Amino acid sequence: LGEGTLPRAFAAGAHARPGARVRVGVATITAAELQDLVGRVARLLAERHGFGRGDRVLVLSPSSLELVVGYLALLHLGCTVTMANPAYRREELLRLVRVAESRAVLAAAELADSRLEGLAVDVVPLDPLIGQASQLERLEPAELDSGDIAQIAFTSGTTSEPKGVPLTHAQLLSSVRGIVAAWHWRSEDVLVHALPLFHQHGLSGLHAALLSGSDLVVLPRFDPEELVAEVERVAGTILFGVPSIYRRLLDAGLSDARARLSSLRLATCGSAPLSPALARDFRDQLGLRLLERYGSTESGLNVSNVYGDSPVAGSVGLPLPGVEIAVARDGVVDLSGSGSGEVLLRGPQVFDGYLNASETTADAFLPGGWFRTGDLGSIDEDGRLTITGRLKELIITGGMNVSPGEVEDVIAAYGGVADVAVSGIPDARWGEAVCAWVVPEAAAQIDPTSLMAHCRAHVADFKVPKRIFFVEDLPRNDMGKIQRSRLEVPA
Ligand code: ATP
Repeated sequence: LGEGTLPRAFAAGAHARPGARVRVGVATITAAELQDLVGRVARLLAERHGFGRGDRVLVLSPSSLELVVGYLALLHLGCTVTMANPAYRREELLRLVRVAESRAVLAAAELADSRLEGLAVDVVPLDPLIGQASQLERLEPAELDSGDIAQIAFTSGTTSEPKGVPLTHAQLLSSVRGIVAAWHWRSEDVLVHALPLFHQHGLSGLHAALLSGSDLVVLPRFDPEELVAEVERVAGTILFGVPSIYRRLLDAGLSDARARLSSLRLATCGSAPLSPALARDFRDQLGLRLLERYGSTESGLNVSNVYGDSPVAGSVGLPLPGVEIAVARDGVVDLSGSGSGEVLLRGPQVFDGYLNASETTADAFLPGGWFRTGDLGSIDEDGRLTITGRLKELIITGGMNVSPGEVEDVIAAYGGVADVAVSGIPDARWGEAVCAWVVPEAAAQIDPTSLMAHCRAHVADFKVPKRIFFVEDLPRNDMGKIQRSRLEVPA
């Protein structure tokens, strides 16, 4: 699964289908032309900037052809890449550079501003590279080992400060080959991709398309109308998404969307829980069944619903090739094959440990090399995994455990609720009190007492929110994850 290196695998994809279209924003080239540009820019980075195998480089850019070429050229040279969120400010970038020990930043012109001051690393402008390299000869990919570190990715920081995750070529290839096989990805496929490339989820789409020689269209941002228009224009067959994107697509209420999206054979969903309501609305309104899969920065893409089968409600599916799953209770691995507890993973795509954080790494693994995902879930007799919550997000109220997701699903099903987050706040009597932050649909009047009664009808009393706050929106990150630490109790 993890044989070879990313540059070799991408070269093989381009060799299999040199004419595959790669479109990023307004620029369209073929896979063969992309390989050519990558080889030239790699030479420029090596000869003019001295980049080589093992150098750690931060890349800061919105999705663009320059970003794709720069990223691939760095891999081609055997550099270790960290992709930064272009929304990051100076402090956040400083932290990435420090943790990842980057020697340089490859930055888009529009972002090369005061945020890069004081980073004490070389700043290499990304935009002119392609032009500067046009007269150069291509460089062959560096002689690399599949165990070389290709990326230092960072976790989303949903539950704590983002952690640095070194990932080898072999681990990244295992992840991507797993989905390519499981989702029957072919060179005839056309991925229309509106996820950001600085996140592992977005990057996995780029990797899968390049590896399989399929057509790829990267949209620099998500806009419902643009996405639908693009799928229609290029007869897209695959869509990658997160729940919040799919919700926005539905809410846009675009006319004819069902017909315009009819070329799609696969719409995958991950990074955050897919609510049953969204899965149902998507199927009813667009005629598409979202295929939910599971993954994380540390453990790659690892579990997915089976392509072609009816998705099992609420389940993220079966392990991908080479992946093993189990659960632990009180830190003890249960190898019976089913049961519930903390979800554990093992497989060729799982990382080896956090960067410069031996204690956190030691806590992250159980004997036998099982990675502790920090997620709670259960495995049924058929081996299907269902995620029920996150260990760190559990609310402990009066000694009872409440998983926010369960209460969120109940509230989301109530008329007039557009969005909801549930979390605990410190409480003298309960330890933590269950509270809900509710975004009402436009013009909806929600009576908190009736909403609490609705909750009482569906979940045990201790899970019913003690307080409900009505807010205009929820703090979500770019992948649509609720940032619970940023939920505020109104004064
Ligand atoms: P941090 O570890 O810094 O708090 P994070 O865990 O949010 O950040 P990521 O690696 O980006 O960082 O996200 C992985 C997590 O996303 C998983 O552990 C899980 O909680 C969640 N996730 C991914 N896919 C799904 C899914 N299909 N259903 C439910 N949760 C999912």
